[in-house]
Amino acid sequence: MRIVKINLYKYDEPLKLKFHSTQTFRTSAESIIVRLGFENGILGYGESAPRTYVTGEDCSTVPLVIRNCFSSIVFSHEINIIDDVENVLERLESECHNRNISRYNSALGAIDTALLDALARFQKQPVTNFLGSIVRKRLPYSISIPLLPLKKIQELFFQLPKLARVKYVKVLVGEVETENMERVGLVRSFFGDDVDIRVENNGKWTFQQAIGNLDRLQKFNITAVEQPLAKDDIEGLRRLKEATGIPIIVDESICSLSDAKRLIEREACDILNIKISKCGGLIRSRQIAQFAESQNIPCQLGAHVGETEILREAGRSFALTTPNLVYFEGYSFLPFEDEWRSEQFEIKNDNEVELVDFGFGTASIAEQLIEKHCSSMLELTIKNGIKIFK
Ligand SMILES: [Mg+2]
Repeated sequence: MRIVKINLYKYDEPLKLKFHSTQTFRTSAESIIVRLGFENGILGYGESAPRTYVTGEDCSTVPLVIRNCFSSIVFSHEINIIDDVENVLERLESECHNRNISRYNSALGAIDTALLDALARFQKQPVTNFLGSIVRKRLPYSISIPLLPLKKIQELFFQLPKLARVKYVKVLVGEVETENMERVGLVRSFFGDDVDIRVENNGKWTFQQAIGNLDRLQKFNITAVEQPLAKDDIEGLRRLKEATGIPIIVDESICSLSDAKRLIEREACDILNIKISKCGGLIRSRQIAQFAESQNIPCQLGAHVGETEILREAGRSFALTTPNLVYFEGYSFLPFEDEWRSEQFEIKNDNEVELVDFGFGTASIAEQLIEKHCSSMLELTIKNGIKIFK
């Protein structure tokens, strides 16, 4: 089947709780939803969550890459089997290399997810079938505690008793050691001794700050630290890992298979945080996870704050089929949104995960998102060319 239309939509929905981290104060979810229309009426929905501080992309660059670099290749391929999807992705990536475009991962991820969704729907099967066998029935759900004042965190605990059922928690920490001690201490006292607590700094510490903070935070029995140093400081990560013995999760440092190879080869990490969007989609993410597995390195499935159901479902498909997965953050920010409060969202630690229907199973939700929460950015058709929406 051939693609005849590509639509891009900007999803820009305010978050109920503004999300604080050391990188950003995020007030709205920002994504680009891609809808691929095929000649036989099949539609595929994909999503890009571009973040400048991760892949260098944003909501203005993704449409440009898709329009100028990807669209003619996408229109020229038949998509009937999974090999076709892989071939298109390879062509798109080599086109970026030929044109010296290095910032394209998140744009590629949108095409990858949309193609897989459409092909799975065409073949009447779930996307997981393209990724591998289902290896688990329960996902290791982890939540993230944003960088909020302690008083606010206490209020949240009070308002959200369901949080106490979580088994894996990530605490965002800042620069000041005493504040971090209080923050992690509070979280430990709320969740108790049995919960797995790790900390996340988003690459803002210097080496000395990392040593100082981790030395003091060890007393709370933290299991890992995520991105303690700047993303390019691979030697620093290696030295820190050696000096503290605390497992290091890399996030901003790893956006591709070559990043993963470099980090693992240099012994600069213990766990890879894979996010479907920053890693160029599900097929690329699968390659990274398989390489990591061959090196005995586990993975975490991360999510950018504010991702829609499309990337959430892609992440879930990945998590269900990835053997070396230790944490699943696909819904990590939801506890702070209305869905949680209104009881629509349940932590499924103790329940079996149900498989979705064809594709990601998110077609009707995606259409609702487009209708209610998105603005049209671009429409590309095989016959009539480009229509740009202002
Ligand atoms: Mg992170």
